[in-house]
Amino acid sequence: MGTSLENRHETDGADDEFRDLIRRQLELLGEDPDREGLVRTPERVAKSLAWLTRGYEMDVMQVVGSALFDSEGGTNMVMVRDIELYSLCEHHMLPFYGKAHIAYIPNGKIVGLSKLPRIVEVFARRLQVQERLTEQIAGAIDEVLHPMGVGVVIEAYHLCMMMRGVEKQNSKTLTSAVRGLFRSDPRTREEFLTLAYAPRG
Ligand SMILES: [Zn+2]
Repeated sequence: MGTSLENRHETDGADDEFRDLIRRQLELLGEDPDREGLVRTPERVAKSLAWLTRGYEMDVMQVVGSALFDSEGGTNMVMVRDIELYSLCEHHMLPFYGKAHIAYIPNGKIVGLSKLPRIVEVFARRLQVQERLTEQIAGAIDEVLHPMGVGVVIEAYHLCMMMRGVEKQNSKTLTSAVRGLFRSDPRTREEFLTLAYAPRG
């Protein structure tokens, strides 16, 4: 079901190769890949990694589909906050997770609100750095809607920071990307950032 690593490789047997690699990885870690708890681990890890990186096979236009509508002249800021986000850092292949806040000012077109989390998925489900992820989401919305402006803020916790070395359990990483009016008009940017960081509830 769904994504198989095989879809992503031209050669047959890529799944087998992947499983073998994970088995070897377990050996190099000093484990016994034949002990009961680990026997099916290579298969599970291969499947899990394929799923966690399924964004490589996703496409923004496909995800948005026909959910583009006329904004009927409205040029007020549209914002969706607290979009859950899970990704893998490309430096350590460890998860980072948090929330994305997305806003744009329509220029004739709006997109179905449920599509914004899907656009986040396209780019989050890959090996990423948070800065690029933020830029790619802003760029995709820019491309699809040609809005007057777009702003994206991501707040995320990185397990590679939290679990390794000096454990910095509470450091949250903030990134933002702004385009159009969100860049050129300080009042628009201010409104966006105030809304993005406003207390919840
Ligand atoms: Zn990392």
